[in-house]
Amino acid sequence: MGSEAESGSREPLSRIVHAIRARERFVLSSHARPDGDSIGAQLALAHALRRLGKSADIVNRDAPPASLESLPGADSIEVAGEVTGAYDAAIVLECSSLDRTEVAGLERHFLVNIDHHTGNRMYGALNWYDPSAAAVAEMVHDLVAALGVPLTPPIAIPLYAGILTDTGSFRHANITRRTFDICSRVAASGVDVAAVAAAIYQSGTMGRLKLTAALVDAMRLAAGDRVALLRVDDALLRDTGCPADDMDGLINLPLSAREVQAVVMIKALDGTTRVSLRSKGEIDVRSVAVSFGGGGHRNAAGFSLDGERAEVEARIVEAVAAAVEASAGPPAASEPADG
Ligand code: 5GP
Ligand code: MN
Repeated sequence: MGSEAESGSREPLSRIVHAIRARERFVLSSHARPDGDSIGAQLALAHALRRLGKSADIVNRDAPPASLESLPGADSIEVAGEVTGAYDAAIVLECSSLDRTEVAGLERHFLVNIDHHTGNRMYGALNWYDPSAAAVAEMVHDLVAALGVPLTPPIAIPLYAGILTDTGSFRHANITRRTFDICSRVAASGVDVAAVAAAIYQSGTMGRLKLTAALVDAMRLAAGDRVALLRVDDALLRDTGCPADDMDGLINLPLSAREVQAVVMIKALDGTTRVSLRSKGEIDVRSVAVSFGGGGHRNAAGFSLDGERAEVEARIVEAVAAAVEASAGPPAASEPADG
C-alpha cells in the first residue's frame, strides 16, 4: 500500500469506516455513462458491504458498457434517474460533483463522496478525495481492507477491472507503486487476471471491429498530425453494426501513432453530442474540457456540446492543439538528433 503522502490523509477513510459500521442500508451511485472504474469500484464496495451483513443497492443513470456486463454482480445494477428507496447513506463514487450522477434524490441522504478527479467539489457529508489514486478502485481496495473484509474474487475482479481500464491497460501516467501493490494482492487472491482482461478487451462485437476500421479511415489530422479527430454518429453505428455501448476505448486508437499527441472524439448520438479528449504525457486536455464546461483528468477528459457543429469542432481542435503546443514535450515531427 502507498505511503501517507501517496494515498492522501487516512482521516477521511477512518471516518467513512465509522459511518459505514453505524449504518445498515446503502445506495451506491456513480456518473452517467459509467466506465470501468465507476462500475468496478461500485461492484466491489457493494459486495463488501453485503459481506458485512448490510444491504447495498447500486443505482446508475445508465447501464454498464457491454464490455463490463460479465463482471460479478453487474446484473444487479439498477438503471434509473432517481433513487426512491429508504437508505441510511448514499455513497457516490467517481464523481467530481453530485450532478455527474444525473440521478435525483441522492441529496436527500447522508452523502459519502469518494473520488479521484481533480477539482472535486467536496459535496458530501464525508469526503474522501485522493487525486493521487490511479482509480477509485484503488481507494475502494483500501476501504474494503479497513472494513476488515477479505479480498475475495467477487471484490478483487471488479477492482482489477477498474484499475485496468482507468490506467489505459497500465499505460497512463497515473500509475504508482500503490497500483501494483494492489494488483499484486488481486493476483494473490486467486483471480485469473488474464481472463478479466480478455472479457474486457477481447469479447467485443464484430460491429465494434468494423467501426474501428471506419473511424480510422475517416480520421482527420490537424496541427501537423499531432491532433487526431474522430467522429461517430447514429448512421455510422447503424452502418457498422456496432452497439452504442460497445465503443469504450476506441478513442485511444490514434495514440498508437508516434505523431499523434492528443485525440478529440465527437459522439453525436441519440440527439446529444458528447466530446471525449485524450492526450499523451504532460499534455493537459482537462483544462480544455473545463473551458467547454466539462472536466476529467489531465490525459482523459470530456464534456457535452451544443451549438453549431462545424464551428464548435474547429474551436475544440484549436484548443487541443494549443494544449499540445503548451506542453513541454518535443515536437513529434522532429528528426532524431545525430550523435
Ligand atoms: P470519457 O471521455 O471517457 O467520457 O471521460 C473521460 C474523463 O472525463 C472521465 O474521468 C470522466 O469522468 C470525465 N468527464 C467526461 N465528461 C465529463 C463532463 O461532462 N463533466 C465532467 N466534470 N467530467 C467529465
Ligand atoms: Mn476513475
